[in-house]
Amino acid sequence: MAQRVATSDGAAKKTSRVRVAVRLRPYMGGEDEKDEGPCVRGLDSQNLEIVNWRNATETVKYHFDVFHDEKTTQQEVFLSSVKPILPHILTGQNASVFAYGPTGAGKTHTMMGSSDQPGVIPRAVREVFKLVKVKADEEGWDYSIGMSYLEIYNEKVLDLLSPSSQDLPIRENKDKNIFIPGLTHTTISCFSDFDKQFVPASLNRTTASTKLNQRSSRSHAILLIKVVRTQRAAPHRKQTGKLYLIDLAGSEDNRRTGNQGIRLKESGAINLSLFTLNKVVDSLNSSAAVRVPYRDSKLTRLLQDSLGGSSHSVMITNIAPEYKYYFDTFGALNFASKSKLVVNKPFTCETVAVPAMPVKRARDDHTAGGSGT
Ligand code: ADP
Ligand code: MG
Repeated sequence: MAQRVATSDGAAKKTSRVRVAVRLRPYMGGEDEKDEGPCVRGLDSQNLEIVNWRNATETVKYHFDVFHDEKTTQQEVFLSSVKPILPHILTGQNASVFAYGPTGAGKTHTMMGSSDQPGVIPRAVREVFKLVKVKADEEGWDYSIGMSYLEIYNEKVLDLLSPSSQDLPIRENKDKNIFIPGLTHTTISCFSDFDKQFVPASLNRTTASTKLNQRSSRSHAILLIKVVRTQRAAPHRKQTGKLYLIDLAGSEDNRRTGNQGIRLKESGAINLSLFTLNKVVDSLNSSAAVRVPYRDSKLTRLLQDSLGGSSHSVMITNIAPEYKYYFDTFGALNFASKSKLVVNKPFTCETVAVPAMPVKRARDDHTAGGSGT
């Protein structure tokens, strides 16, 4: 969906909306010490409801572009929310996919997944290689695929493929493309090339996290896949498409969890990038002509050429059904949806209408059983 938005120089230009999907992770008994059961449930493929804490005889109903219930497989999330945008990066357009939501709600599961249930990142990279192969066979272009992997932590830009690097600058060239001078960019010629770089860099990040105050829940992990294509015949046109795949910092309100000192400072800094991302997505999705505040944080500045404008973006908001996540879930839902409705029905008294499972339901690769844990 396109709309007109005023840019910083006052000109109106065509801008794409950010598609918003919500994914509810399965209820986990271990996350619910008081054994209260779930406080969120899906209604259909676009709506969910949550208990209203102000009034237990009511629920609050939210509407989204897409709602993925707790039974949704990794393959289904990929097919509906990510696969359709990938062909654009082969024709010089940009795209971004974000996992948003509180720590523990399933962002890393959605983006990385596990070897049994690979997430959006491995599926998207495989798909890009597949698309390039088909295209290269049928058209007169040469393609080259490369990757960078970085982290924004405390408003610092760090190269995950070169861990000793310092805070890197973000620049814009005369064509308004955003780039990071000095950031490692590696050409990859097949999926295993990618995996060889990505897996150890991700592990490094996880190992560091246990030492450094759960750094992984406080930093944004940003994978960039760049596709450059060059026409074989004159005039040898060259096009570059960028795909950002982002596991965002936890959206929980750290003030409420009582963080002190350094952690409070870190939370503040992370909140700047997340808070600004919220504002940017709100302004892109608003029908009013408003300034999009890309320059107000590192994350949004980096994404300026890949979020809004002519690019294709999807935000997958991950939420957890247990009561201990209740207020953070509300926060995430209020960001994900501008449409909510208080419904006069107690949550507990209503039977959960579990939709019948289609007989031929897509299963995750390699899984024998359900989409479970
Ligand atoms: P986050 O990255 O948002 O902090 P994780 O992805 O680490 O959350 O998820 C928290 C826990 O829940 C992990 O043990 C993960 O495997 C599990 N989990 C998350 N989403 C799902 C899902 N859709 N199906 C099964 N398990 C999930
Ligand atoms: Mg995580």
